[in-house]
Amino acid sequence: MSRVLIIEDEEAIADLEKDYLELSGFEVEIENNGTDGLARALGEEFDMFILDLMLPGIDGFEICKRIREEKNTPVLMVSAKKDDIDKIRGLGLGADDYITKPFSPSELVARVKAHLARYERLIGSNEPKNDVVEIRGIRIDKTARRVWVNDEEKQFTTKEFDLLTFLAENPNHVFTKEELFREIWDMESIGDIATVTVHIKKIREKIEMNTNKPQYIETIWGVGYRFKL
Ligand code: CA
Repeated sequence: MSRVLIIEDEEAIADLEKDYLELSGFEVEIENNGTDGLARALGEEFDMFILDLMLPGIDGFEICKRIREEKNTPVLMVSAKKDDIDKIRGLGLGADDYITKPFSPSELVARVKAHLARYERLIGSNEPKNDVVEIRGIRIDKTARRVWVNDEEKQFTTKEFDLLTFLAENPNHVFTKEELFREIWDMESIGDIATVTVHIKKIREKIEMNTNKPQYIETIWGVGYRFKL
């Protein structure tokens, strides 16, 4: 649930904002003076700040500036005068949006939602995504080299992991044991195509419900193996 901090000294306005945001599923906290508001804004994790401009203690200009020095959390500034908006812009405080009193609560909610969605996309796009292969209940995280079968993690040796991943990434394609050996084991490896058979058996023991009736890696008699799509 997204957490919103409202820093607003007019109790009626703060309560109205809180009610509407809570109805939309947000968790809302209120501080009614600038000093406590800034302390909470910097000391706790919030997903959005709604910041009144004229506040006892520290004013909204200063709070916005201080938040921006430490956080990228969206800030919606609320002011009583239209002129203030030009001032906020002119100061380059880094506020994400501005709204003038009186405003409709549903407009406030719409803006909060829009900024949160944008912020979440921004954060999401900065996180490197792991390279994952997923087929019918098997989840192979290539980046972390971990495998889950129906949400249960299974341990694989390096070659078992490489072989399973190669087959799962090329489903519905029959590979001979020779092809698989060449693909997974380097030229200097000691071993032969029997190594492939042994590894397929080990993999099946970890991923198949019934190794006699494999649902994932099929044996194509006289040819090799195929990962069923
Ligand atoms: Ca005020």
